[in-house]
Amino acid sequence: MSNLPPASPEHPEAFGPPIAVPAVMRWLKTISSRWARHGLVAVLLAISVFAVWSAITTGRLAQEAIASSLLSDDYTSAAFAVTEAESLERKYRLEPGPEVRRRYDEVVTELMSALDRVHQSGSLQDRTLVEYIRTSQQPYLESINRMFDAVDRGETAEVLRIDNDEVDPRFEIIEQTVSQASANHHRVSIQSLKKLRARESFNANTTPIVFIAGLLLVGLFANVLRRTRIELDSQRKDALHASLHDKLTGLPNRTLLADRFEQAMRLGRRQGSTTGLLLIDLDRFKEVNDTLGHHYGDCLLDQVGKRLINEAREIDTVARLGGDEFAILLPSAEGLDGALKAAQRLHTAITAAFEIDGVELDVEASFGVVVSGLHGDDPSTLMQRADIAMYAAKKQGKGILAYDPEADRRSPERLAMLGELRRGLERGELFLEYQPKVSLSTGEVTGVEALVRWQHPVRGLVRPDEFIPFAELTGIIGSLTQYVLNLALSQVRAWVDVGIRIPVAVNISARNLLDDKLVFQIVDLLEHHQLTPNMLMLEVTESAIMLDSYAARTILRQLHSMGIHIAIDDFGVGYTSLAQLKDLPISELKIDKSFVLAMQSDQANELIVRSVVDLGHNLGMAVIAEGVETAELFNALGGYHCDMVQGFHVCRPISAEAFKLWYEERERK
Ligand code: C2E
Ligand code: CA
Ligand code: CA
Repeated sequence: MSNLPPASPEHPEAFGPPIAVPAVMRWLKTISSRWARHGLVAVLLAISVFAVWSAITTGRLAQEAIASSLLSDDYTSAAFAVTEAESLERKYRLEPGPEVRRRYDEVVTELMSALDRVHQSGSLQDRTLVEYIRTSQQPYLESINRMFDAVDRGETAEVLRIDNDEVDPRFEIIEQTVSQASANHHRVSIQSLKKLRARESFNANTTPIVFIAGLLLVGLFANVLRRTRIELDSQRKDALHASLHDKLTGLPNRTLLADRFEQAMRLGRRQGSTTGLLLIDLDRFKEVNDTLGHHYGDCLLDQVGKRLINEAREIDTVARLGGDEFAILLPSAEGLDGALKAAQRLHTAITAAFEIDGVELDVEASFGVVVSGLHGDDPSTLMQRADIAMYAAKKQGKGILAYDPEADRRSPERLAMLGELRRGLERGELFLEYQPKVSLSTGEVTGVEALVRWQHPVRGLVRPDEFIPFAELTGIIGSLTQYVLNLALSQVRAWVDVGIRIPVAVNISARNLLDDKLVFQIVDLLEHHQLTPNMLMLEVTESAIMLDSYAARTILRQLHSMGIHIAIDDFGVGYTSLAQLKDLPISELKIDKSFVLAMQSDQANELIVRSVVDLGHNLGMAVIAEGVETAELFNALGGYHCDMVQGFHVCRPISAEAFKLWYEERERK
């Protein structure tokens, strides 16, 4: 159907897959957004760790400082008490009295309680020290009391003796110990405070820096995240747009058209209006593409799209379905007349000359027209019928044709058959039989023709003549040919694997030759089954070449240049001019069985067959006769120097397994 190649290496921009660059960009975006997210988490984590660490360490230092300052205070109280005790002792000796003695006792109690507090909160070293002071204090207090008693008694000599021998040395020990410990702890306390202060000033300096740097990084990462999110969003939007629009013309594609078609039908049913669809296929577009190059082809398609949009109403949808195929959806078309008028207007618009880079170009176009209600009630039936109408318009050389149910008698049955055929292909209900071609001079099997059959679950075995013509009416023939090619080539592969090297001939329909995909499909299949091109022959009828001879010839030349043999099938019933035949890359000429079968009863046919054999040979082709049912025919053809024969006399079309047995049997003889 389409005349334009899908993605071809020298022309990737028109139909190729989205180029790789955006994919790389998308990948980079995803990576950078992932990094930004990780970075964000890392920074927040680092800030939290810093905050917790600084709180814990500062708290610990503060506690140390408090404890050490309390201890130092206790030692200081103890030291004070010791000093006061000494001065009270002196005072008692000068002016004794109960008041001084009471005060002295109080000071001793103060000293004891200060030492108790040190014992409680101090370290092991402090506790040992306190115990040491306590043990030294007991004899000292006893001596003091004795000295005080001596003072009370007025025994001055005894007082001096106790003071010199007992009190002073014992006191000195206590005083020194206490004052030294007090001084030490004072130093330690000051040091703790210093440490705490240093930590606090460190915190004061670094916290803002850490937080500011953290905030900056968080901002940076958040910004990266936001930006990549925005870009990814817009990429997503672009991808959505791309999935619904044709890249070359920017028009809605098949998917979007189908969606709008559904909507229009729904709305039409509610409002009682008709929905129209015009299916347009450009004629001779391939010629532009091939003779002037893809640039012109692309520009032409673009301009065709623009003209269609200009001519269509605002509410209509102009879509490009692929290749040189366009569709226009007419919501609320005014019946078939309205749709035909619209088609006429659009046809006039696009058949007026185009100008591309100073070159004037004319295109012809075939329009298939359908409207809801009259031609069908669902988008897929309407699409299919528009396609049938378009193909009929093309075949008959009419610019515009509405779908004609009359021309398509038993149409509902046929349409049902089309649906079943599609399913049959999906379920593998179609299979192949093979009919050998043999050389008349050597008896050698030169090839087999693959003939398709359909094992229908209800109708039973259906012959190709009953379904191929319907398949040819629509795009199904494309899938069918692909299916047959695949089966035939996989069979050849299997035979080659067991040592049977016989090429297969596959029948190709007229419509296949309008579809450039055919060439790519064949290349893929040969590669897939690892077969050389000379293992495949294509049988093409004369009428197929005549339908769109330019397109057909181009495709045939491509196939021929790859090394695939082409046979012209049913030769004699069509109207191929000898001039055309000469220009075609054909290696085999197959005389139609109607001439062969009638040969024996009709002198004229005999002459035709003889002349075709000569004609073929003069054009450098091998000639094969089909429909060779009897030994007489077989022998007669030998007499005319026909190269090969095919027919029931040699072998009927049979299954692959039966063919293998037949072939092995024949080889043995
Ligand atoms: P065709 O290409 O002309 O195929 C030859 C037809 O002649 C086959 O009919 C074959 O069974 C029949 N035939 C073979 N030897 C004799 C004989 O000695 N006498 C008579 N009277 N007939 C003989 P078949 O298999 O029914 O196919 C009919 C047509 O269907 C084919 O005609 C071909 O045009 C088409 N066809 C078959 N398979 C395919 C396919 O895979 N793709 C396409 N596009 N068309 C196919
Ligand atoms: Ca054939
Ligand atoms: Ca034939």
